[in-house]
Amino acid sequence: HTMKKHNYSAGPCILPQEVFEKSAAAILNFNNSGLSILEISHRSKDFVAIMEEARALALDLLGLTGKGYQALFLHGGASLEFLMVPFNLMKENGKAAYLDTGTWANSAIKEAKAFGETVLVASSKPENYNHIPKGFEIPADADYFHCTSNNTIFGTQIKSFPETNIPMVCDMSSDIFSRVLDFSKFDLIYAGAQKNMGPAGTTLVVIKEEILGKTGRNIPNMLNFQQHIEKESMYNTPPVFAIYASLLTLQWLKNLGGIAAIEKINNEKAALLYTEIDRNPYFKGTANTEDRSNMNATFLLNDEANAPLFDEMWKAAGISGLPGHRSVGGYRASMYNALPLESVQVLVDVMQEFEKKVS
Ligand code: PMP
Repeated sequence: HTMKKHNYSAGPCILPQEVFEKSAAAILNFNNSGLSILEISHRSKDFVAIMEEARALALDLLGLTGKGYQALFLHGGASLEFLMVPFNLMKENGKAAYLDTGTWANSAIKEAKAFGETVLVASSKPENYNHIPKGFEIPADADYFHCTSNNTIFGTQIKSFPETNIPMVCDMSSDIFSRVLDFSKFDLIYAGAQKNMGPAGTTLVVIKEEILGKTGRNIPNMLNFQQHIEKESMYNTPPVFAIYASLLTLQWLKNLGGIAAIEKINNEKAALLYTEIDRNPYFKGTANTEDRSNMNATFLLNDEANAPLFDEMWKAAGISGLPGHRSVGGYRASMYNALPLESVQVLVDVMQEFEKKVS
């Protein structure tokens, strides 16, 4: 029996322990059926009920029930949405507006360029994406505006979204279900499951139906949101296990009190860690204070020569997944919904022990 680690992985990441337990049980014997969740038909009554509940619960948690939205659980990750969004929303000879706040935003922009004109409303690239640009203008004649709510690699997060009359699309892969927002401001939200929602293998797409069907493009069925809506998210065999585990995570969140309840805990976790990063003279944060992410806290050692000692210390404390993204280095503490406050306290204790040792 190995001790459960304090898992700071950026994704796939920690999920609630009860989700692991219930998922494991369902693999052996689903709903006392004598069958594994892995061997039943996706068209069976039991799985159709899972799909329906997952779609309804996602909308419920986001406060979007009865407001003209549809929730889909698709394949292909958030990266496929980078191209499904322009395919479904950018008119022939149209244009789209993008905010460039990091690596993933950039990947979305690259895909959109294959479909038509993309207008970059602002970019924080020259400052190595250490902040969220503000005060930019969104062209009123663009087909949609696309932004990334949380920049997983650079540790920044949009705290206040712009006002616009054109459809607003948001990649919420790394902070969906983590904080209260007026989600009805958005016309399309997408998120790979593998942070706050479940295991890798499915992507949640939440769409205001009225924005679809306006491009004049011939869209292949598998990439066509309208097709997926008509087929109730079962155009082809859905990733059944990823959706089931996602449903369990959404149920966990609902029982906890929903997004408002988890936001309080997330605020506490972020405050605890950022207070230490700011106080401790041996560390520095990389993101501008006002834009820093409550999900991914990125930080550096002031003296890189101390890295072997710090690395040895956090590993000995049972911490896992702390190194920063391979493209930026340093450290990144991902504090997704399922990471307990106690895990953050363990990291803060290590940082204080480290300070004592090196000073
Ligand atoms: N967008 C964001 C904000 C992400 O953090 C990631 C993955 N870390 C992606 C998109 C890409 O997601 P996927 O691997 O599901 O394609």
